[in-house]
Amino acid sequence: MNRLVLGVESTAHTFSASVVSTDGKILSNAKSVYKAPEGSGIHPFEASQNHLAAAPSVLEEAIRSSGAGLGEISAVAYAMGPGLGPCLRVGAVAARTLAASLGVPLVPVNHAVGHIELGCLLTGARDPVVLLVSGGHTMIIAFSGGRWRILGESLDLTLGQLLDQFGRHHGLASPCGRAIEEAASRSSSYLRLPYSVKGNDVSFSGLLTASKTLLDRGASFEDVSYSLQETSFSMVTEVTERALAFTEKKEVMIVGGVAANRRLSQMMSAMAGRHSARVLAVPLEYSGDCGAQIAWTGALAHGCGIQVPVVESSVRQSWRLDVVDIPWRS
Ligand code: AMP
Ligand code: MG
Repeated sequence: MNRLVLGVESTAHTFSASVVSTDGKILSNAKSVYKAPEGSGIHPFEASQNHLAAAPSVLEEAIRSSGAGLGEISAVAYAMGPGLGPCLRVGAVAARTLAASLGVPLVPVNHAVGHIELGCLLTGARDPVVLLVSGGHTMIIAFSGGRWRILGESLDLTLGQLLDQFGRHHGLASPCGRAIEEAASRSSSYLRLPYSVKGNDVSFSGLLTASKTLLDRGASFEDVSYSLQETSFSMVTEVTERALAFTEKKEVMIVGGVAANRRLSQMMSAMAGRHSARVLAVPLEYSGDCGAQIAWTGALAHGCGIQVPVVESSVRQSWRLDVVDIPWRS
């Protein structure tokens, strides 16, 4: 039977709510995004205050624009983690309140699994090697033995943090990825930067320091942005290629906010072409954090009987996706 699930996302800068149907239609996806002051990163408490203020109107908008009646919602899913504690707690409280007042099950969802499962729904990917590149994650992932397995990851900063911290050094407000992409598109002058791939993992901290130093010494923002993108994207493309060659899968799916970047897609497509694999990128509207990721994954989990009593529900700031059982794919 086709039913509706409401999902709440609040792991970091975004408070978002969405209603999806269990047959995979996204009926609404409302959001409010916390903007940090220029030159600074996300302050967890400040972001949580944004979420607190935005929660009533975002939830109302998600329900109203879905066209659904409250009585049609059969479960409420929430991002249990990983993420920033104060932000996670706002979403959890909102979801608990709704689930308790509607008398429907509460379904905990791992945020990273949310990125992947919504990506599969929207791109039609069946068994991809996944590159998850966002503010909170940089991982190369593939499904095996009942779980999404991490085949490679960043040993320090995520790709989103690398771009945002570099942008902030230049005085931009986070998130800076799009501004860096625009600046990079105006240059083709490569400045030498450290390239650090260790086995299947990458390390970005030396690259960040070197990029900031180039700026401080007078190199143009355009040239350093271009060089930073070329270097960091080559690094993640190399480790994704290794995962693809090893697993012999035929799909590469890019998810997370950095998936919006056209140069990254271009590099991944050139690489995948050499392995007769196709590249699938999540549509822009759904590549960053959003409630639809949580609602859809909640629908899949709820279909397998996953739920948590409201009084036992919690949040988990650290929760690696390779410890999460995925019964709907097994
Ligand atoms: P998420 O955590 O999934 O919401 O992703 C947020 C991250 O995506 C931030 O670090 C942004 O700077 C980054 N981002 C957004 N758009 C782009 C873009 N066009 N190119 C590179 N990074 C981007
Ligand atoms: Mg995310």
